[in-house]
Amino acid sequence: MKILTINSGSSSVKYQFINTGTKQALCKGLVERIGISGTNLTHKRHDGKKINISENITNHENAIEHILHILIHPDYGVIQDLNEIDAVGHRLVHAGEKFKHSVLVDEEVREKLYECIEFAPLHNPANIKGIEASLEKLPNIPNVGVFDTTFHVNIPDYAYIYGIPYTYYKNHGIRRYGFHGTSHYYVSHRAAEILDKDIKNLNIITCHLGNGSSITAVKGGISVDTSMGFTPLEGLIMGTRCGDIDPGVIYTIACKENFDRDQINTFLNKQCGIQGISGLSSDMREVGTEAENGNYQAQLALKVFAYRLKKYIASYFGIMNGADAIVFTGGIGENSDVIRKLAVGNMDALGIKLDDAKNDGTRSSETIISADDSAVSIMIIPTNEELVIAMETERIVSDIKSSN
Ligand code: ADP
Repeated sequence: MKILTINSGSSSVKYQFINTGTKQALCKGLVERIGISGTNLTHKRHDGKKINISENITNHENAIEHILHILIHPDYGVIQDLNEIDAVGHRLVHAGEKFKHSVLVDEEVREKLYECIEFAPLHNPANIKGIEASLEKLPNIPNVGVFDTTFHVNIPDYAYIYGIPYTYYKNHGIRRYGFHGTSHYYVSHRAAEILDKDIKNLNIITCHLGNGSSITAVKGGISVDTSMGFTPLEGLIMGTRCGDIDPGVIYTIACKENFDRDQINTFLNKQCGIQGISGLSSDMREVGTEAENGNYQAQLALKVFAYRLKKYIASYFGIMNGADAIVFTGGIGENSDVIRKLAVGNMDALGIKLDDAKNDGTRSSETIISADDSAVSIMIIPTNEELVIAMETERIVSDIKSSN
C-alpha cells in the first residue's frame, strides 16, 4: 500500500509518503511556522530531488492542501493522482485509556479523540487539527490514528499506579501512560531482527534520547515499564524538561518565585533539564561542545543526564531479571558517543561491556557497539516512527477490508 503519514504539531506538519511493500519513503517533508510569518515547506523525494517553498500557509488545512499538491507535482511529486493514496496514518500523542490500539477514525472515534485532549493539552489539539484537515481534503480515503501511548498498554498496574489515593486514578485517570511508543516498538523489534532471535525470548531496554527522552523495558516484545508517566515530563532529564524530581521541590519553587500553576507548568517543561542545568542550551551538541571547552555546568548537565539513564538501565535489569540488549536511538542516542559511554560504561558487573573503538564516533547507523564478550548486546538503531505508523495503518485498513 501507499500510505501518507502525518505528524501534526501546533505550528508544523511533518509528512512521509511510504510504500509499505518496500518499506521505503517515496518522499518526505515538513511544513514549518504554520500561521506565523515565514512559513516554509521543505520537500525531498527518494531520488534526492528537493524543493523549498516559502508561502503564506495560515492553518493546518492549508498545510495539508500544500502537501497533497506537492505529492502530485509534475516535477517533485511521486504520484499522478491523489487516488493513489491508499490511506493516511496520523501520529497521535495521548490516548488516555480510551484506545488500546490504533484505530480507523470515524465519527465515534473523533468524539473520543476530543475527550483525550485533557490528557495532552499541548499535543492532542494539534494532532486533531491534522486529522480534521485530512478528512476534509481526502474524504474518501481511510484515516487511521496511531498513538504514542498504546505500545505501553500492557504495563502492569503496580508499575502504572502512583503513590496517591486510588480515587485519583478512578476519577481522573491519573496513572503512568508512557510515550514514544512507536519508537520503542520499532527499535525493539529491529533489535530482535538484527540479533536474529525471536523477540518473544528477549529482554530489551530501549533508550529513546532526543529533545524528549524516555526509556522502556521490553519483555518478550511487550512494554512492561517506561520512564515517562501521566505526561511526558517524568523520567529522564530532557532538553528543557526536568524529568523525575522530588514533588516537594515544586511547592518550594512555587512559593519562592510566586509562580501560579501555569507558570510552574511552563517552568518544569521549558526551563529545566539540560537547558536549566547547563544555563546554555537545550541542544546536546552545543552543550557537548561547551563541555569539551571546560565549561563546568555543561559538563555537569551531561553527567546528570547520563547518570539518570544509568540508574534506569540498572533498574530495568532488576524488573526483567536481566537484559539481552540495550538499544540507543533518537538524536542523542544515535549520535552521542559521549553519552552512550557515560551511561553504559563501567557496568560489567551486569554483563554490559562497551567496545570503545566501536562506540567512538559512530553515528546514525545500525551498529552493535558492545565488546565481543559482552553478555548484553549494546546497539545503535536509528528509529523509524513513520514506518510503524504506515505499517499500523496498512494493518487496520487490511483488517477492515477483509472483514467486509
Ligand atoms: P526530537 O525529540 O525533537 O525528535 P531528536 O531525536 O532530533 O529530537 O534529537 C535532538 C537532540 O539530539 C538534540 O539535543 C541534539 O543536540 C542531539 N544531537 C543531534 N546530533 C547530535 C550529535 N552529533 N551529538 C550529540 N547530540 C546530537
